[in-house]
Amino acid sequence: MPGWYAGILSDMSDEQPSRVVIVGSANMDVVFSVERMPAPGETLLSGDAARHPGGKGLNQAVAAARAGVPTAFIGALGTDPFGDSLADAMDAAGVSRDLVRRTVQDTGQAFILVDQDGENMIVVASGANATMSRLTESEKDAIAGADVLLMQLELTAAVVLEAATVARAAERAIMLNAAPAAPLGDALLALLDYLIVNEHEACLLGGSDDLSVASRTLAATVDRLIVTLGAEGSDVYESGELVGTVAPPKVTAVDTTGAGDTFCGALAAAVAEGLPLLDAVRFATAASALSVESVGAVSSIPSRPRIESKLGESW
Ligand code: ADP
Repeated sequence: MPGWYAGILSDMSDEQPSRVVIVGSANMDVVFSVERMPAPGETLLSGDAARHPGGKGLNQAVAAARAGVPTAFIGALGTDPFGDSLADAMDAAGVSRDLVRRTVQDTGQAFILVDQDGENMIVVASGANATMSRLTESEKDAIAGADVLLMQLELTAAVVLEAATVARAAERAIMLNAAPAAPLGDALLALLDYLIVNEHEACLLGGSDDLSVASRTLAATVDRLIVTLGAEGSDVYESGELVGTVAPPKVTAVDTTGAGDTFCGALAAAVAEGLPLLDAVRFATAASALSVESVGAVSSIPSRPRIESKLGESW
């Protein structure tokens, strides 16, 4: 019922100021293309280093904003030129950065080597991101006033737990994308309404190499679990039960960088607008499938008209 999706999304956004708040990281990705990975102690020459806005928090904020929902970013940038570029990227996507801190520490940077086979090696200098250890009162107010809080695991565990605690007290929906995979404490798990992981993270957190065993283990610990499966779509669990598998539309995959981030941001937007679980996942699936059709992370995140048009196709 494609028209129904378009209808409910537009109607609800007109009537209520749904909002998503992201507490997360922002990095400048510095990408070096190399013929092969260097050996320890070796120096390789590369052409120009390409720079792109990145960090899971920033990517997901852009995805939520492009999905058409007012979105605010809580995080930290340096006062350096990279910080200015990332601030510009947020402005261009319509992400509110009223609460973004500017610190004396440099903006976070991810140094990415990509070889001819597309294999990569990444080192992240957290910089300003690592200064996010406690929330300010205005940050807490923003979280308490939003419909959905969406976080990842690139900031300190303390700030993730604090944000979730604030959102729970205000009865807001709490979403965590457990990436990069790291053990989740019981206190945090108990606060989550939605946990989103890819296959690798599911196996790691669910404690099994068998994806369905790991997923079921994890599903028993959280209200709603979504396991993204790349080109296969995603498995959706609610109250410990598998309630659906959502396949993506057929697309020509060019670059899957940022697909998971697009999925999470779009899901948060759809949940903020009141879509039921499986409909929200279908919206996120359409958005993330569109994102793999072109190169880059932020640059490939689709805007709402394209998502709605994809939802209108039968798949
Ligand atoms: P991550 O980027 O975190 O590893 P996935 O690879 O599971 O996450 O992708 C997230 C979502 O992006 C999938 O659930 C799917 O909706 C979409 N997606 C990823 N790869 C493809 C693809 N090749 N074709 C269509 N959709 C894709």
